[in-house]
Amino acid sequence: MDDSGLISDADERALLDSIDRWLTKKVAPVADRFEQADEYPTELVRDMCEMGLFGALIEPQWGGLGLSALTYSKIVARISEEWMSLTGFFNSHLMMALVVQKFGTGAQKDHWLPRFATGELRGGLALTEPDAGTDLQGIRTTARRDGDDYLITGAKLWITNAIEGDILAVLVKTDPGAQPRHRGMSMLIMPTRDADTGADAKGVTRGRKLPKLGYRGIDTGEIGFADAPCDARLGLVGGEEGKGFLMATGGLEIGRVNVAARGVGVARRALKEAVAYAQVRQTMGKPIAQHQAIQLKLGEMAAKTRAAELLVEDAARAYDRGGRVDMEAGMAKWFATETAFEVATESMRIHGANGYSKEYPIERLYRDAPLMMIGEGTNEMQRIIIARQLIARNPV
Ligand SMILES: Cc1cc2nc3c(=O)[nH]c(=O)nc-3n(C[C@H](O)[C@H](O)[C@H](O)COP(=O)(O)OP(=O)(O)OC[C@H]3O[C@@H](n4cnc5c(N)ncnc54)[C@H](O)[C@@H]3O)c2cc1C
Repeated sequence: MDDSGLISDADERALLDSIDRWLTKKVAPVADRFEQADEYPTELVRDMCEMGLFGALIEPQWGGLGLSALTYSKIVARISEEWMSLTGFFNSHLMMALVVQKFGTGAQKDHWLPRFATGELRGGLALTEPDAGTDLQGIRTTARRDGDDYLITGAKLWITNAIEGDILAVLVKTDPGAQPRHRGMSMLIMPTRDADTGADAKGVTRGRKLPKLGYRGIDTGEIGFADAPCDARLGLVGGEEGKGFLMATGGLEIGRVNVAARGVGVARRALKEAVAYAQVRQTMGKPIAQHQAIQLKLGEMAAKTRAAELLVEDAARAYDRGGRVDMEAGMAKWFATETAFEVATESMRIHGANGYSKEYPIERLYRDAPLMMIGEGTNEMQRIIIARQLIARNPV
């Protein structure tokens, strides 16, 4: 492995092959059942811990796999071909871990990262609130210093891994009156469970798991804080107030590459299902694949899916080279996730009534696709980010 986490082609192939075997043997037979019941797949989460996926992007010195974004995006795309929800468990967790890895103090890295890498402590990134999603600087959750602790008060909504997890990176306001608003924002690593009893930590109320259109099985929920004490030394990321907004938005770049890779996985599977179905289903005495109307759809679906793969690869390589990649990540995220939705929709139409049936996989792909256009920064915002970067990189 080199410094950027690139592993040899042979090692990457071996890793992807082992994931493929797991998908075939363990995931494919149960994914529909867990998804339709919206049930947390405990055993599959345990498998992913054992495979090291909760430490995929954590550096080896803290027990992680230290993979490049390129290899990581290939893993995410493959798992999403089978069941997209599974990638949410470890990706949301890694977003939290990367905040510590990129911005934490030495003591914070040594304390948290080995526990995050094994999945002993699992969690996510808690930014969104009932009244603030895109406008993150509008959050109302506060944290005030009280001796060695911060006391957190507020509510977070739509937080992945919030119910079944143990810990969250929580974006708070430590100086609610600051101008510009981001100067008053900080990031706290906050255990949400009592380590001994497993009950809610002091001052924390884990709310309900939200019912969702797709992306089911995984817990996306609400969580409340009422003067919840958070150890300042281990909790305040970087040991300095006022840097939380940068940490939240800096962490989102890899999140966007991840969501884009999910889009590739969903698009690829929807295309595969359409190509197979179109050769089997007959109308007017021939397979529908021989009707030009269907061929036009398949041609466009295949070209867009390939373009999405290439844009994700481009963004992942740019991330691995270092530096600012919000334009590349934004392009990949926007295009790949719009493609996932389009290809899933077209595949459903090619399936006719069977596309509307819960007994065919396309129905789930169709329900999973829209989330990716919303999460990790909506696709409206992606195009605005791309344009801003385009202008910044090309001044006249
Ligand atoms: C299943 C699921 C899982 C999630 N997991 C997490 C998680 O783990 N952690 C977390 O913190 N959040 C999570 N989220 C929240 C997600 O990040 C937000 O929903 C997203 O950022 C959008 O925020 P919002 O829902 O408040 O929409 P709003 O911000 O209210 O936006 C509504 C609409 O207005 C548009 N819009 C808003 N502002 C602008 C603007 N300035 N210019 C142009 N258009 C604009 C948006 O694009 C959108 O179309 C999750 C959401 C879902 C659905």
